[in-house]
Amino acid sequence: MKIGTIASHSALNIISGAKKEGFDTQLYCTPNRSSFYRSFGLEDSIVIIDSFDEILDLDLTDVILVPHGSFVAYIGAEKILSSEIKLFGNKELLRWEEDRNLKTRLMQEAGLLVPREYTSVEEIISPVIAKTHGAAGGEGYFIAKDSTEAQAKMNPSTDYSFQEYIIGTKVFVTYFNSLARKRTEIFGADIRYETDADANLRFDDRPSFIVVGNLPMVLRESTLAQYYDMGLAFADAFERLIRQKLIGPFCIETIIDKEQRIFSFEFSGRIVAGTNVWIPTSPYSYLQFGEPVWMGRRIAIEIRELMEQGQLEEAMR
Ligand code: ATP
Repeated sequence: MKIGTIASHSALNIISGAKKEGFDTQLYCTPNRSSFYRSFGLEDSIVIIDSFDEILDLDLTDVILVPHGSFVAYIGAEKILSSEIKLFGNKELLRWEEDRNLKTRLMQEAGLLVPREYTSVEEIISPVIAKTHGAAGGEGYFIAKDSTEAQAKMNPSTDYSFQEYIIGTKVFVTYFNSLARKRTEIFGADIRYETDADANLRFDDRPSFIVVGNLPMVLRESTLAQYYDMGLAFADAFERLIRQKLIGPFCIETIIDKEQRIFSFEFSGRIVAGTNVWIPTSPYSYLQFGEPVWMGRRIAIEIRELMEQGQLEEAMR
């Protein structure tokens, strides 16, 4: 079995981890990026394709694909769900992630504190963030202090959902749910730095939330323990609602306000780019394994252990 992914997002993380665990690897790469990936010594992994969705036409019988953010964005959840490709992780979770209502339902089922959602602009009684559907990286979002301001800012032809705007520190915590070891591991935390919402000076009220990159974060240990419980509750809620096991990496996206309440506004059921800050290891994975383990390597360890236990099929539903 080979481990493969498309050349973007966290591909360096995934492919280097798979190599470290002794797997043959496939990095599906467009011609313009190949010299970049070659510069990391990955020439033996590169398979050139003209566009990422071409991978669905390739023979992938002996490849386990590791999905990441660009993977879903470029190929589309529906196409992935109807294909025969072997994905590491839950295909069903991709559907829940794409649908805002299902997403909120799952977070509520897990008992997470979520920002209040308004179904119409008239209902708004707090500052809000208006989100457009299916936006990547917060494009087209705006913030408004009340209903009147929100109505003035809305583009009439756009469909928005309104969420209470939480003022605080954005914290992204990543986990790994292991079937092989039957446990949920807390992997790491990071801060997503966004332009120009995270800039210090501004002269307008239309911040952009486009992600520039991620900064490593180490949480207070008492707070980390709270996040650990949230991760366990999320994995349990997933199993209750979707009736499948949660497999591999996931991330809960939160904001901690000044009363130290943790609001969860999003999750990702796959590797997130924030784990790239923890190559070659996160402090927590180092403590769990006694050696450097980054997320790409953690995924490869799981695949190997599931193969040894004859459980790999279950990890690719
Ligand atoms: P991605 O797919 O990259 O995760 P997205 O388009 O789904 O992004 P969100 O993650 O929902 O968008 O939001 C983008 C950014 O907007 C967040 O990273 C955060 O900075 C801000 N944000 C989202 N919801 C809230 C909220 N309720 N209160 C305050 N800020 C928020």
